[in-house]
Amino acid sequence: MSDRVKLKTTPAKITVKGDAWILHFPRFGEEGTHYHTYGLLTPYFKGLTEGRLLGTKCMFPGCPIYKGKGELWIPPRADCPDCHQPMVWEDVKDPKGYIFTFTYVERGGTGLEIECPYYQIDVKMAGVCSIVKGYLLDRKPIKIGDKVRARFLTGAAATHTCLDICWELV
Ligand SMILES: [Zn+2]
Repeated sequence: MSDRVKLKTTPAKITVKGDAWILHFPRFGEEGTHYHTYGLLTPYFKGLTEGRLLGTKCMFPGCPIYKGKGELWIPPRADCPDCHQPMVWEDVKDPKGYIFTFTYVERGGTGLEIECPYYQIDVKMAGVCSIVKGYLLDRKPIKIGDKVRARFLTGAAATHTCLDICWELV
């Protein structure tokens, strides 16, 4: 077994309508293709394929919670749940953090697109108010608090899904 996790998935086809990506996922063959739009969250998925991690924050001065000084959310929200105004996109420069908690997945069940075993990790990053769920490329033993940095599946390697961001030990 390799010391690095691999994906079992094939890149999903994308079509574009307006600014939105529409994912074509032939889960059950061509006739069983699942269509899913990323809608207003398309910049997040597009960013991953370009090696960028994007989040959103509410900067609306009239927001009852953030009062124009929103915190960065990843995964992003298109609109603020508190004031319903559009959130503002922002790049995370040099995305890295530490393992907040983790699960060692030995058997993932039907449909899992990550080769087992692997660590599913929750990552806490400075400047991001949410905790990001993802998978670790490394298979060696880990502990809470270990430092990680983001890696991206870009270009021809991109799956056009949330699997396009993963993490590796620093
Ligand atoms: Zn708001």
